[in-house]
Amino acid sequence: MADTVSKKVLMGGEFLIKDSQPEDIFIPEEWNEEQQMIRQTVIDFVEQMGNKGKKIENQVELMTQAGELGFLGCHIPDEYGGMLLDTNTVTMICEYIGGTYGGFSTSFAAHTGIGMLPILYFGSEELRNKYLPDLSNGIKFAAYCLTEPGSGSDALAAKTRADLTDDGNAYILNGQKMWISNAGFAHVFIVFAQVEGDKFTGFVVEADSEGISLGAEEDKMGIKGSSTRQVFFENVKVPKENILGEIGKGHLIAFNVLNIGRFKLGALTIGGCKMATNASIKYANERKQFKQPISNFGAIQHKLGEQAIRTFVLESSVYRLSDMLKDRKDNLVAEGKSYSDALLQAAEEYAVECALLKVYGSEAADFTIDEAVQIHGGYGFSEEYMVAGAYRDARINRIYEGTNEINRILSVSMLLKKAMKGQIDIVGPAWAVQKELASLPSNDISEGKYGQEKKAVKDFKKMLLMVAGYIAKEQMDGKLNLKEEQEILMNVSDMMMDCFNAESVLLRVEKISNMDGKVFQTAHDAILQTFIYDATARMVKSATDALASCAEGDMLNILLNGVKRFSKYPAKNVKQFRRKIAAYLISQNEYTL
Ligand SMILES: Cc1cc2nc3c(=O)[nH]c(=O)nc-3n(C[C@H](O)[C@H](O)[C@H](O)COP(=O)(O)OP(=O)(O)OC[C@H]3O[C@@H](n4cnc5c(N)ncnc54)[C@H](O)[C@@H]3O)c2cc1C
Repeated sequence: MADTVSKKVLMGGEFLIKDSQPEDIFIPEEWNEEQQMIRQTVIDFVEQMGNKGKKIENQVELMTQAGELGFLGCHIPDEYGGMLLDTNTVTMICEYIGGTYGGFSTSFAAHTGIGMLPILYFGSEELRNKYLPDLSNGIKFAAYCLTEPGSGSDALAAKTRADLTDDGNAYILNGQKMWISNAGFAHVFIVFAQVEGDKFTGFVVEADSEGISLGAEEDKMGIKGSSTRQVFFENVKVPKENILGEIGKGHLIAFNVLNIGRFKLGALTIGGCKMATNASIKYANERKQFKQPISNFGAIQHKLGEQAIRTFVLESSVYRLSDMLKDRKDNLVAEGKSYSDALLQAAEEYAVECALLKVYGSEAADFTIDEAVQIHGGYGFSEEYMVAGAYRDARINRIYEGTNEINRILSVSMLLKKAMKGQIDIVGPAWAVQKELASLPSNDISEGKYGQEKKAVKDFKKMLLMVAGYIAKEQMDGKLNLKEEQEILMNVSDMMMDCFNAESVLLRVEKISNMDGKVFQTAHDAILQTFIYDATARMVKSATDALASCAEGDMLNILLNGVKRFSKYPAKNVKQFRRKIAAYLISQNEYTL
């Protein structure tokens, strides 16, 4: 089933300067019958898996089953042995796999994402035909070898060498890779090495090649079921046909594959958030203290409400972005690009959004799981309950696929780079905001049910454009060197995240409110309003911190007045809203929003 719809879509970063409508986005309430059937298959797979994913020795069996069910090749075209489902269905499969325990989701993501995609995107036709069918069907597994003991975030500083043989037919690899997921059972390694000393290049290397050896399994804090080992290369001969892309262009592979890897991680974390929220609701309903279920208490309802808000917001943003990736890819295919080039370029287009959702998803999962432990009290600290393990498992998400610090910094620098290249005009809109600041404030509220929220989202974007416009101008005038101002970049990144999330949740709730009444719950309105209310406070804090870090005197006062002007969302009874959300979840005894 290939994607067929072609519609006008926002380009990367444009969410900051253009408005979207509910009909522009996909929401999970719109799954069609076929997608619902696939969803049930994933749910059944995850349920029958139970705790098996916690053990390394079970990974091959589980991955083989996933391959037989088509989950490993769901993003791979038929000609390479996959079943090419539409992008949103692939996202949904990731979501449910993300709800598994103990490390299976890492095995799955390392194989299907960073393991297989370099071959699909950059492999020759021969490499694709040789490797992708077995990798799609769970007959062989892949691992991705980028990190080294001395190079993690600074991946291009890798020291592993690849030297051409005298006959010119092969390369000899020497070096050491670190923290390699799936290393213990993978048949195929994607390896990055320096050709002629400094030409960073990707290779496909078979795991049984002479000269490859593995370190012991790492003794990790969490995801103990996933295999993580060092990989050593000692005079490993690799045919030159196994080069991915071009010599010296390995950075394109490493970074582009990470774009989609980050998006997938965002999708996987929805599963983690839902799993934790479900466990919390059920436990809070069962556990009695002071002669009543603890779900009766306001402090617990606050937690359940907040878990649901972050889960719902993450899900809204991930499926919105999934649909943008899908539409962009379809448009590129319609323009004559191959499927793999279209997929690659779509992910590159939305690199900013992918980085933002990786950060938000990993932090939302940490939050919901941490609160799940708290709701379980002392039992949450016991391995008898799955939340203890989930707490440790979730922690890795903020570290791999680029740490959250790197992703925050990247999201802003990539946006500014796009602006410098003329790919997106943020100067014009930022200038319009400056002009607006010189005029009298208008208290116009958009018409309709969500008028206040629509105005708040518009104002968030204005506040962000004001801050981003100011720092970009200071940079251009040579008064600020943003490379040395990471704290400001992190503030701006947090604002971008709130802008994307706030609009995504607004559009989703508005769309649901127009659907049949069974789908819409008052909890949806409560989620929207509570999120916007909290986001307003976060936006004010981030903007003020950023501005006070680089502006002074009258200029700072003008800008801070702008912050006030663009943060007029009224105070709301968020206590009551969270109670309303919790009451709904408690009545359902599970997360059904
Ligand atoms: C369980 C697990 C599985 C993994 N799987 C794989 C895999 O399959 N393949 C693979 O290639 N790698 C894998 N990794 C490696 C992972 O991607 C790296 O650990 C990660 O990129 C961070 O690199 P590092 O550990 O060297 O930390 P460092 O880069 O040393 O970072 C340390 C700290 O400094 C910060 N920092 C670093 N540079 C900057 C900067 N410029 N500005 C601001 N802050 C900075 C970081 O954010 C972090 O907080 C895995 C790691 C783990 C733990």
